[in-house]
Amino acid sequence: MKKSIFTQSGIPLFGILFIILLSGIIMAQEKQLAWDLYNSYESFKEKTLENRRFKHSDIVPLIEQLQNKNIFKVEKVGKSIEGRDIYLISLGTGKIKVFLWSQMHGDESTATAALFDIFNFFSDDIAFPDFKKFLLSNLSIYIIPMVNPDGAELFQRRNIVEIDLNRDVVRLQTPEAQILKNVFDSLKAEFGFNLHDQGRDYSVGNSFNPASISFLAPSPNYEKSLTAPRENAMKLIGHTTDILNEFIPGHIAKYTDDYEPRAFGDNFTKWGTGVVLIESGGWRGDREKQFLRKINYVAILSALNSIASGSYSKTDANIYESIPQNEKFMMDFILRNLKLNRKDKDYIIDIGINFEEENLDGARNFYLKASIEDVGDLSVYSGYEEIDLSGYSIESGKTKPEVFHSIAELEKLNPADLYSEGYTNVFLSEENFHGNHSHLPFNILLDPSIKPNNEIKPESPVNFIIKKDGLIKFVVINGFLVDIENSDSWNGNSIIFNK
Ligand SMILES: [Zn+2]
Repeated sequence: MKKSIFTQSGIPLFGILFIILLSGIIMAQEKQLAWDLYNSYESFKEKTLENRRFKHSDIVPLIEQLQNKNIFKVEKVGKSIEGRDIYLISLGTGKIKVFLWSQMHGDESTATAALFDIFNFFSDDIAFPDFKKFLLSNLSIYIIPMVNPDGAELFQRRNIVEIDLNRDVVRLQTPEAQILKNVFDSLKAEFGFNLHDQGRDYSVGNSFNPASISFLAPSPNYEKSLTAPRENAMKLIGHTTDILNEFIPGHIAKYTDDYEPRAFGDNFTKWGTGVVLIESGGWRGDREKQFLRKINYVAILSALNSIASGSYSKTDANIYESIPQNEKFMMDFILRNLKLNRKDKDYIIDIGINFEEENLDGARNFYLKASIEDVGDLSVYSGYEEIDLSGYSIESGKTKPEVFHSIAELEKLNPADLYSEGYTNVFLSEENFHGNHSHLPFNILLDPSIKPNNEIKPESPVNFIIKKDGLIKFVVINGFLVDIENSDSWNGNSIIFNK
């Protein structure tokens, strides 16, 4: 039999090879564009948004500036409970509608900052002219950059009446959720981007990498049906994952696809929009998530490019399927292989430590409060930071019995002297002194009757002394490790324990 040059579908084999070759070329071009966006990012970064804790009053002037640019349409689409305007910014004249919204949860601001970087990108008249023209002629882009301004004000997840907006799509009791739903209904967009942050404790499966970006194409029902919009979202995520693997390989996971009937993404999928959930997680050495903000910028612009060209539609569905699941195997700091003596027997243990952020200065700032997450064999966990202390032993830090009467007295203490006697805490009895943290390298107990909890077990504070051959080599103050030989290197914060 003569070999046919036609395949079963009737397309010539050469045609299929040509399509494969062409899609390879297109992907290579898209990756090059992503690299160009990545490398030029600093010119577009909105410099006034310096960390995660910016507020509505910081973004309003930026939005007002956009009104001066012809390409943007700026509308006020309602007010939060505390009366803060919620804005819809739109651009582009294309047929395909894309809706992006961020910060439904007030303390999840990474993508909001990236959206302002993207506004700067489009405001610029010079760079990437063909790309911008291509996007704006094929897409109509609609953006709500801070759905929950009252929550952002307090840097808290929920809104001002403690309702989680992402559980209010059915009851629609909050104005913020009503606004989001109204804008969604008015657009019926083909694609939606639901932009969030997730905890630093998420890992990529059981790898030792944080889940820096997690994606999801939410389920439209309990059966997790593969509707057409959901399949489009899956392909777009697969395509965007391929591109992000250039920058953060091994750091991309998939959020659980369990149906949540009270959430926006799940319902928007049910109502016919291809929803892409992006969760910004943790990245080593980047508590303020400024690198992940840049990755959001590259991811969103790359995804918009793919929607405009339709290139996502040729993506293999297996890419989405093969993204590892979000798991929780990350901790902030792990001390490994310490010897702990209990009831006259030595045990080798790891200690996992997590830091909570406690708000300061009207939530503009924070201090860190450490607690023990787990003790024992933590070999399945990974730390943002780790230290191997094989050959060292651990004991609880002690409190110096003497009572001090002023902060000035405490400032004169030599920390090395305290540490050499095993002290991590001191007493202070000074009337009218209040506080919750300090930058002194030891903890302060504000009342001699306080019995500090220095136990080495889960949920306890993190104050230890670490010895080798009977000599104290390190102390740990509120989760911060101090090398005795080099105690000037302290740059943590300690805790002030009130009664
Ligand atoms: Zn969220």
